[in-house]
Amino acid sequence: MSEHQQRRPFDVGAYVERSTAGPCFICEMLAGDPDYAHHIIYEDETAVAFLNKYPILYGYTLVAPRHHREPVTGDFTREEDLVLQGLAYRLGEALQQVVPTERLYILSLGSQQANSHVHWHIVPLPPGIPLEQQQLESLDPLKEVLGGGCAGPAPLSGPSFSKAKVGSPEESARSPLPVPTAAEGSSGADLPAQRPCQDLLSVEPRLLSRLLDQMERVLDQDLIGLYLYGSLVTGDFDPEISDLDLLAVTASDIDAQQFEALDDMHNAIAAQNPQWEGRIEVQYIAASALETFKTQRSQIAVISPGEPFHLKQAGIDWLINWYLVREQGRVLFGPSPQTVIPSITKEEFLQAVREQARHWVEWANQPRDQRGQSYAILTMCRALVAYQSGEQPSKNQAALWMQERFPQWSSLIEKALVWRKASDDELEGHEATFPETAAFIHFLDEQFD
Ligand SMILES: [Zn+2]
Repeated sequence: MSEHQQRRPFDVGAYVERSTAGPCFICEMLAGDPDYAHHIIYEDETAVAFLNKYPILYGYTLVAPRHHREPVTGDFTREEDLVLQGLAYRLGEALQQVVPTERLYILSLGSQQANSHVHWHIVPLPPGIPLEQQQLESLDPLKEVLGGGCAGPAPLSGPSFSKAKVGSPEESARSPLPVPTAAEGSSGADLPAQRPCQDLLSVEPRLLSRLLDQMERVLDQDLIGLYLYGSLVTGDFDPEISDLDLLAVTASDIDAQQFEALDDMHNAIAAQNPQWEGRIEVQYIAASALETFKTQRSQIAVISPGEPFHLKQAGIDWLINWYLVREQGRVLFGPSPQTVIPSITKEEFLQAVREQARHWVEWANQPRDQRGQSYAILTMCRALVAYQSGEQPSKNQAALWMQERFPQWSSLIEKALVWRKASDDELEGHEATFPETAAFIHFLDEQFD
């Protein structure tokens, strides 16, 4: 479990010292002082909204006027106050679109001795918190805060970034802003509990926003929907190695001109964001092809790690992906995934998972390198956990679960987690580890029945 998935104690002394003796943290942030940097999610000429550096709940946002004002009413005209309250309203609406919220808290606190720059706390209380832990109790950072600036106490399954709209004061749609989000949902009852949160700062929300803008430019009215799925949604996104998995649904097949423009677009994005090169995976599929994928194969366009943008035929072999988009996908644009992907039953999903596992048994018939072994081991773990629990776990969850259940294989699973992140020169002895990997795959295959 990574550092930012856990709660950490809050250093009260240091906090009090900083907030009483230090300069105004909001003015310093706005002046660009790196010591006071925050993750800003919205700003305009009068106000700024940013994520709380010491959040006790996921999605904890602060809103403040740009100018250093102190009394919450006395320093504002009635009109200025209405503008700020309007922004609090819009942010509250946007947050609730993307963070599971039982009750939204909006409050202004502050002190003349510390944090005197007036600001409002806008905080989504997740569902399921017992009454005695709600309200001020749920906001007390002196207990412990979330590492890495996100996550929450509720069993959220993972974060994503979505194009939630912070509506304009006139409610006209303009410049939708990316807002950090947490995906709702339960992990299977028997899965190890997983703290949701990835580091909100680790995934560049503007990357998704930019990708969508450029896709809309190329595809225009042909873009029906864009959906994020995979590790960023299931909860073990690793900023250094994980891929971004996206499904783009189009009104018709990608034509030659669009293909070329999308290819250029992906190359440009990779050049501008070298850390993401080879890690953005997108499938472009026509809505009609999705409707019939169970019975016929259709052409889709794909960019995936290690492969350039290309066309291929896709049919029922993509069922697991489409099921996951349908069940867990986050809408970046367009209608809900259930409206564009036909119903897929859990039985169909589990059957596909079973078939996928058989494929890995065949794969294990000849020696493979450790990166491949790692992929096979973790994918098999995930397949078995999914098959037995009925829920698709994240790779880390599945690995943990399998280690607890089959301690005799724990060290091999641990190695697979290490190989997954290792660089090529760190990997050695591929052939020596292969027999154990193959034995593990055969062992897991037998556990299915
Ligand atoms: Zn200030």
